[in-house]
Amino acid sequence: MLTSIVGINWGDEGKGRMVDLLSKDYNIVCRYQGGNNAGHTIIEEGHKIVLNLLPSGILRDSTVNVLGNGMVIDLKHLYNEVNALRKKGVVVSPENLKISDRATICMPYHVLLDCLEEDRLKGKKFGSTRRGISPVYADKFMKKALRMGDLLNLDGLTERIEDLVEWKNLIIEGGYKAPKINAQEIIAWLKEFGLPFKDYIVDMTQYLDKQIKNKKSVMFEAQLGALRDIDFGIYPYTSASNTIAAYAPIGAGVPFAKLDKVIGIMKAYSTCVGEGPFTCEMSGDEAEALRQAGGEYGAATGRPRRVGGFDVVASKYGVKMQGANEIALTKLDVLSYLDKIPVCVAYDVNGTLTTDFPNGKNLETAKPVYKYMDGWKCDISGCRKLKELPKQAIEYIRFIENATECKIKYVSVGADREQYMVL
Ligand code: GDP
Ligand code: MG
Repeated sequence: MLTSIVGINWGDEGKGRMVDLLSKDYNIVCRYQGGNNAGHTIIEEGHKIVLNLLPSGILRDSTVNVLGNGMVIDLKHLYNEVNALRKKGVVVSPENLKISDRATICMPYHVLLDCLEEDRLKGKKFGSTRRGISPVYADKFMKKALRMGDLLNLDGLTERIEDLVEWKNLIIEGGYKAPKINAQEIIAWLKEFGLPFKDYIVDMTQYLDKQIKNKKSVMFEAQLGALRDIDFGIYPYTSASNTIAAYAPIGAGVPFAKLDKVIGIMKAYSTCVGEGPFTCEMSGDEAEALRQAGGEYGAATGRPRRVGGFDVVASKYGVKMQGANEIALTKLDVLSYLDKIPVCVAYDVNGTLTTDFPNGKNLETAKPVYKYMDGWKCDISGCRKLKELPKQAIEYIRFIENATECKIKYVSVGADREQYMVL
């Protein structure tokens, strides 16, 4: 069984907790894109664990975790994340963590360039997480990046780094007028934070192909949602990678594999970190109340998230682009405080109402069309079956199911592992 678990919206749908929940049925969990710009929050026995690079399956004893070729890996961040988990008693070893030799290394100068550019942009910034993700993907496609496999053979590395550093200094010192970077420091960084992972690096295509032939089940875990996909998202306010499910087999290392199932994670309301068109956005007290109720502050950055009601137009598009055949609706409990629940049911694009997600200028100028549904006004965090939910909550679920044209299979009503129901 090959399953991809992906975000339907702008990210932060609660993918981390759903992967954590569903990963128990899978032998292998793979990350296939992005880097440590992800922030997945999992609550385990009351402890909050934030994962940026590691797949959520790392918290299960018997799960093998994969960092695929589509990822960009900041070695220092990986080193720190692994050590922080070890302090909490989590075992991380070459048995349960495997890193693709084709994964790209995110270097300190990528982080530096990301920050220099964000600073230069000042008010016009795109909302980068300043973790070097766009610069490192740019270098990947310029064929000037280092890959994990390069750590296995250090011959000639010094020369390559010197070349790269000379090139980067043309921009860092020459362009941004910032202090030069130094090749020796980069090499020392690679050795300090990279060499501890030497034994974790594998030819992932060979590894996964063998596992799949042996009928092992694989889950591909996305970071961010459909609307952040570099090709199909709200470009240029997207991530630098393909977040959609169709990319999962490619980014994990098995482009020939076919997905059996795509589970889309969809939030019961909308949130968006950073800049870009966010048609359903609410403001003022109404927004602040929702942000508070949902605890909507970035897991990676602490930034307050922009919020809005459930967005039918964007979510229907997300379901479609992901090819989702099952939905997990998360954070339904957050809406319990509302008398009337706002839902963005259509966009007004230049005077025409539509539920087709627009692109470019049409998206930027689209206005939300809001409708209000009855709230349930009671605590639902203890419900474990659909029939235990108040009738307004069931109506809300059925409404979303119809509007987005996809079956809702799971509903979560709290952040703890057990706080969910299967429909
Ligand atoms: P991800 O990036 O998609 O993994 O999502 P984040 O971890 O960034 O954000 C989801 C947040 O919502 C985390 O703080 C979770 O602990 C929390 N969360 C997840 N599911 C639920 C839920 O059903 N109810 C509530 N109240 N919180 C939830
Ligand atoms: Mg997140």
